[in-house]
Amino acid sequence: MKKSLSNRIKELPASATLEMSAKARELKNSGIDIIGLSVGEPDFGTPSFIKDSAIDAVNQGYNSYTPVDGYSELKESIIFKFKRDNNLVYEKNQIVVSTGAKQSIYNVIQVLINPGDDVIIFSPYWVSYSAMVTLAGGNPIDLKSDISSDFKVSPKQLEEVITPNTKLILLNSPNNPSGSIYSEKELKDLSNVICKYPNTYVMSDEIYEHIYYDNYKPFSFAGIDKMYDKTITVNGLSKAYAMTGWRVGYIGAPEWIAKACTKLQGQTTSGTNCIAQRAAITALKSPLSKIKYMIDEFNFRRNRILDLIKDIDGFKINRPKGAFYVFPDISIFFGKSINGTEIKNATDFSLFLLEKANVATVTGDAFGCPNNIRISYAASLEKIEDALNRIKNVLN
Ligand code: PMP
Ligand code: GLU
Repeated sequence: MKKSLSNRIKELPASATLEMSAKARELKNSGIDIIGLSVGEPDFGTPSFIKDSAIDAVNQGYNSYTPVDGYSELKESIIFKFKRDNNLVYEKNQIVVSTGAKQSIYNVIQVLINPGDDVIIFSPYWVSYSAMVTLAGGNPIDLKSDISSDFKVSPKQLEEVITPNTKLILLNSPNNPSGSIYSEKELKDLSNVICKYPNTYVMSDEIYEHIYYDNYKPFSFAGIDKMYDKTITVNGLSKAYAMTGWRVGYIGAPEWIAKACTKLQGQTTSGTNCIAQRAAITALKSPLSKIKYMIDEFNFRRNRILDLIKDIDGFKINRPKGAFYVFPDISIFFGKSINGTEIKNATDFSLFLLEKANVATVTGDAFGCPNNIRISYAASLEKIEDALNRIKNVLN
């Protein structure tokens, strides 16, 4: 029998974040004491008041197929959340609930991108963006930034690459992997370039919006003057509510885009899991004070990991303002040999840390930043301290 996969799937790269966490899990299961700082996943349990509402939903007999675009009450909670947190007004026909923000993003790219359309991706970017664009036949255009601009792209850079063929811009703030946050002024300046292109839309991935520090409150791109009709706002419950495995994400978008996403979802996955949706209603309606303890803890860990990194020679680092990653530039090690291991690039460096320090990180290559590695601090303080000590010891 001839085993022949489609070219589409053969050319699709595996998710570097999930691949690295699978590798770390495998090594751990084989008895090696690995510290996994590769995947971006809160180590907290889902708050009990959210779990309780899921248990109630099971007992109340929620078991049927759900509306493809989400329960009406969940849409009401999402509308409430958008108004409360982002001062954005959406109607129910502009909301689509999906199986994680990942599916929301996939839907948006599938419904907007024709083969040959350009999609500008602000770099560093989350690993799956470019793969999803390629899968839709679009041309991912990686707009580079690095530590010197706090990993943010400028309007001038955007002006140089945007054309009438630019269908979509992918923006993620607070950013995975750099932790950078675009200010309202920076977004406004970018919008002054974007508004000249009537065929260009912006997908604003705001999944880390509640995880910010030192008063750097993120601003929603759809709230910028003239951008509402051009913006698809993506969000989800995975990060701030410690609900990664529940798989609930959503968009607020112009109605015609929301309608298209619903059509696509109706032919692929149908509506999101009923129990997870009931739990999401409770989560989104609750005051943000109920999840503050997790944000405070992330902040504490961020400060600690930044202190520990200062002690490691060669790590150049920005101060992340949100999310739960640090993204040091480790390019000083390229072309060198550490304890007999040749380091040519960030992937070699990340593998070296896995093999020699037993710490799992992710190569910056996966995020469009080949000089860096990503370390997640969504892990216990004890693990973070142990991991950073191990890294220091193998390098010094
Ligand atoms: N966007 C970004 C920037 C992310 O880091 C993630 C993490 N998984 C997602 C989207 C997808 O989140 P989920 O599918 O778990 O809602
Ligand atoms: N967003 C997380 C990360 O970047 C989860 C893994 C994934 O879905 O890629 O690690």
